[in-house]
Amino acid sequence: MKEKKQSDISILLGYAGKYKILTFIGLGLSAIAMLLGMVPYICVWLVARDLIKVAPDWTVAGEVSRYGWMAFIFSVAGILVYFAALMCTHLAAFRTASNIRKQGMAHLMKAPLGFFDSNASGLLRNRLDGAASETETLLAHNLADIVGSIVMFLGMIILMFVFDWRMGSACLMSAVISIFAMFTMMGGKNAELMKEYQAAQDTMSKAGTEYVRGIPVVKVFQQTVYSFRAFKQAIEEYSSKAEQYAVDTCSIPQSVNLTFTEGAFIFLVPVALILAPAALRNGTFAVFVTNFAFYAVFSAIISTALARVMFATNGFMLASNAVSRFSQVMDAPVLEVVDDPKKPADNSVEFQNVSFTYDGADIPALNGVSFRIEPGETIALVGPSGGGKTTAASLIPRFWDATSGVVKVGGVDVRETDPHELMDQISFVFQDNHLFKASILENVRAAKPMASREEVMRALSAAQCDDIIEKLPEGVDTVIGTKGTYLSGGEQQRVALARAILKNAPIVVLDEATAFADPENETLIQKAFAALTKGHTVIMIAHRLSTVVNSDKIIVLDEGRIVEEGNHAELLKNNGMYAHMWGEYNKAAEWRIA
Ligand code: ADP
Ligand code: MG
Repeated sequence: MKEKKQSDISILLGYAGKYKILTFIGLGLSAIAMLLGMVPYICVWLVARDLIKVAPDWTVAGEVSRYGWMAFIFSVAGILVYFAALMCTHLAAFRTASNIRKQGMAHLMKAPLGFFDSNASGLLRNRLDGAASETETLLAHNLADIVGSIVMFLGMIILMFVFDWRMGSACLMSAVISIFAMFTMMGGKNAELMKEYQAAQDTMSKAGTEYVRGIPVVKVFQQTVYSFRAFKQAIEEYSSKAEQYAVDTCSIPQSVNLTFTEGAFIFLVPVALILAPAALRNGTFAVFVTNFAFYAVFSAIISTALARVMFATNGFMLASNAVSRFSQVMDAPVLEVVDDPKKPADNSVEFQNVSFTYDGADIPALNGVSFRIEPGETIALVGPSGGGKTTAASLIPRFWDATSGVVKVGGVDVRETDPHELMDQISFVFQDNHLFKASILENVRAAKPMASREEVMRALSAAQCDDIIEKLPEGVDTVIGTKGTYLSGGEQQRVALARAILKNAPIVVLDEATAFADPENETLIQKAFAALTKGHTVIMIAHRLSTVVNSDKIIVLDEGRIVEEGNHAELLKNNGMYAHMWGEYNKAAEWRIA
C-alpha cells in the first residue's frame, strides 16, 4: 500500500517538469526549519540548568539571557526557512497544477466530440479541477508538512533520550499509546466499517440529488413524500452507520487517544517520583530537576507532532484521489489523426456499408448503411425515433468513428483527413445547441472568430434573428443567460443557425432543427434554413415532413438500416414506411388546422 502511495506522488511530481527540483529543495528546507524549531527546547533545558545551578541567587545566572535570545533567533530563523520552503513548494505546486490542467485539456481536445455527449463537460471539468487543486494542496502544503512532521518526530525521539532516557521513555510511552489507539480506529474491521460509512454517505447524497430533481414530478402528480422512500432509507442507513462508527468504534480509542496526547506527562510524573530519591542521594538532584522541567515542557509538543503526522497522512489520500481523477480524464478516447492527411476533392458525402455500435450497447445503432450525396444535393434522413438518424449525422464530422465501413467526405475517408479542415468544411446545427453565457454577437462569432461585426449582423439577419435582437435590452451585445434574458428554444435555434450561416461551410448537417419551432418560429426557421442551405451539400433530419418534400433524396432509417430511399414522389408511389409516415403527418396537420 505504501509503495502505491509513493508512486502516486511521483506520478504527480512528474507533471512539475523542471520545477520538480524546487519541490525537493522545499522539502529539504522544511526539514531544516523543523530542526531549527527544536533548538528553543534545548535552550529551555539550558536555562533551567543554569537557574537551578545558581538557585536561589538568580542574578548570577548571566548566560540565561543569551539562551533566551538564542531561542528567539532560532525560532525566527525556523519560521523564515519554513516560509522559504513553502515558497519553493508553492511554485512547484502551481506549475504542476497548471500542467495537469493543460495536459488534461489538451487530451480532451483530442477526444471525439461525441464523447462529451455521454460525459457531461461539467463532470470532466470537476475531475480536472479536483485533480489540479488536490495536487496543489498536496504539493504546496501537505508534502512539506509530512517531511517536517517526520523529521520533527524523529528529532523528538532522539532528544528524548539525550538527557534522561528513563523520563524520555515515560513521555514516549504515552505517544505510543495514542498512536496505537488511533490505529485501532482506522485498521482492521473498522476500516470496513469506515468504507460502509462512506458508501452510505455517497448513497445519501445521490438520493438527495434525485429527490431534489424529482420535486417537480412530485408536485405535478400530487405524490406524497413516500415516493422518496429511497431517500429516507438512505438517511436512516447513514445515520445508523454514523452512530455505529462514532459510538461503537471510536468512543473508546478516541478517549484513550485524547487522554494520552493531551496528558503526555501522565507517566512522567510517577517516573520522576520514583527517580527523585536516588538523585537526591547521589547529589545529581539539580540535573534531575532540570531534566524534569525539560520533559514537562517537551511532552506538551508530542501531541502536536503526532497530530501533524496524522493529518499529513491525509496527503497520501489526496495524492491517490488526484491521480485517479486525472487518469479518468486521461482515459477519454482520442480521435486518431493520420500523419499525412488527405484533402477532400469536393463536397460530396458517402457512406459505404457503415455500421456503428455505441459503447456498451448490444445492438448497433447503424447497420450496414450505404448512400451517396453529390456536392450541392440535399438529402433528408427520416424515420421513427431511435432509427439512427442522429447517429448517422454524427459520423460525418467525426463525433464518433464508424465501427465498420467507411464514411467519406469528398472521396476521402474522414479518418484520413485533417480534423481541423474537416471541421471547417462542415457546419452542424443539432437539437440542443449550446449557447455560451456571452453576448449574442460573441455566440455567433464563435463560428468564425475573425468575422467583423457587420458579417455577424448579416448572418443574424439571414437567420431571421432581427426580432430577437430588437427586443433585447442591449441588442446584439446582450449577454444571454443573465438578468432574465433567456431565449426560447426556437430563438436559440435561430441563433445557432446564424452561427452556421456565418461559418458558411460547404457541407451542412441539420438535426431536427425545427423540433422546437412553434408555428411563428417555424416560418422564420424555414427562411433561415433557406439562407443556410443554398448552394451547399445538406444532410437534413426533420420531424416535419413538409420540410423534406423538396429534398433530392429521402432516406428512411429504421432500426439502423435503410428501409427505403428515393425522392418524395417515388417514395409515395412505393407505399412503404415513408408513405405511411406522410399519411400520419398530414392527418396531424389537418387536426392542427381544425
Ligand atoms: P434517431 O436520431 O433516429 O432518433 P439515434 O441515432 O439518436 O436515433 O439513436 C439510434 C440508437 O442509438 C437508439 O437505439 C439510441 O437509443 C442509441 N443511442 C443514441 N445515442 C446513444 C449514446 N450516446 N449512447 C448509447 N446509445 C445511444
Ligand atoms: Mg435524433
